Amino acid sequence: MPLPTGRLDPAKAVARLRSLVSIDALLTDEERMVRDQVRAFVAREVLPHVGRHFEDKTFPLDEARRLGSELGLFGCTLPPEYGGSGASHVAYGLANQELEYGGSGWRSMLSVQSGLVMYPIHAFGSEAQRRRYLPRLASGEIIGCFGLTEPNSGSDPGSMRTTLRRRGDGWVLDGAKAWITNGSAADVAVVWAKDDDGRVRGVLVERGTPGFTARDETHKYAMRASITSALSFEDTPVEEDGILPGARSLGAPLRCLNQARYGIGWGALGSACFTLEHALGYALEREQFGSPIAAFQLQQEKLAWMFAEVAKAYLLALHVGRLKDAGSLEHVHVSLLKRNNVWMARECARLAREMFGAYGVSGEYPIWRHLADLEAVYTYEGTHDVHTLILGEALTGIPSFRRDPA
Ligand SMILES: Cc1cc2nc3c(=O)[nH]c(=O)nc-3n(C[C@H](O)[C@H](O)[C@H](O)COP(=O)(O)OP(=O)(O)OC[C@H]3O[C@@H](n4cnc5c(N)ncnc54)[C@H](O)[C@@H]3O)c2cc1C
Repeated sequence: MPLPTGRLDPAKAVARLRSLVSIDALLTDEERMVRDQVRAFVAREVLPHVGRHFEDKTFPLDEARRLGSELGLFGCTLPPEYGGSGASHVAYGLANQELEYGGSGWRSMLSVQSGLVMYPIHAFGSEAQRRRYLPRLASGEIIGCFGLTEPNSGSDPGSMRTTLRRRGDGWVLDGAKAWITNGSAADVAVVWAKDDDGRVRGVLVERGTPGFTARDETHKYAMRASITSALSFEDTPVEEDGILPGARSLGAPLRCLNQARYGIGWGALGSACFTLEHALGYALEREQFGSPIAAFQLQQEKLAWMFAEVAKAYLLALHVGRLKDAGSLEHVHVSLLKRNNVWMARECARLAREMFGAYGVSGEYPIWRHLADLEAVYTYEGTHDVHTLILGEALTGIPSFRRDPA
């Protein structure tokens, strides 16, 4: 049977897809340059190895330090005196997008180091703390982690049990944190705990501090190419200069989460581009019933859905990024971005998985890795449900997070 007329060669089809969803004309030269640099790095350093790391449950930490030392991405929106470059938030978003095209673990590394470690030290730290940590975090010389979640405290971080109690001239930290990205690799942990007055405080705990241990989560079936650890603090001493002076309520860690969620919204877009491009290429090559499966309307519908959602998600990310650069971003915009784009990317990965048939569940093809990782991204940094509730509260004025006991 002759093949359908006008069928595109897969490589040309992907190039055409990229030109159709492109937002190039809406970006500045600097933003395009950052995107292209990260894209080249991902093609060279990430994509050839990430599948093996996912299978082996390893993360190439020393390679990832190059995001700071070579690409200058860690904390890039901060001022130069703290190791940043004053990059636009859109440029930072594009970097997240390109990294997650390679893998969610790589983008998680950037999110944590920039949004959850450097941001709180810059926003809530003393000048001495900023000078001590930020330049070394920016270069990747040291790695940080962010400990908010606990075994019994996830979506409701206000229920945390970790305590920071006064003892003599100093303090002592006790408690446990769960699911902490970079935990066992971290030279410094930003840990959230309640003080004697029940206020949430941010504490900087360095690796090797007595009573501080980290143990890796080894039974993960998502985000395998990423370090995730449980942290434990037993009678861990904290000096006054280890406490972030500007953080005195739950609002402080929530502000950090908003930074990371912004990057995640862009990152998910990269994952969706990856699964869409690979689904398109595969559909043009895979033949059944004498035709490429791309010739069947049911498969074209899936591709059209993914294309439309990716194009819309790009515009949303760019709009939210421009609002952030203009200083007029509200937290509800970030929830809108994280909720929509991660959901969209998860649906794209699911559809691509279907289109790959049995090969979609094979580790020899890259779709399953993205689908599995997006399950974690859908849950962390505020679950999809939680962002739905944030939008609901913004629209109605009624918070519906908790049910009062009957
Ligand atoms: C790979 C990975 C990396 C992570 N990295 C970090 C990190 O670096 N630092 C950190 O602090 N945490 C990290 N987390 C933890 C993550 O932020 C939490 O998993 C997340 O906040 C959800 O908490 P939970 O898993 O305890 O789920 P729960 O809060 O127990 O939620 C369970 C279910 O109930 C739903 N639910 C909860 N409350 C409500 C409500 N009010 N209304 C309706 N539905 C509700 C949720 O949507 C979810 O479906 C990571 C998690 C993963 C998987």
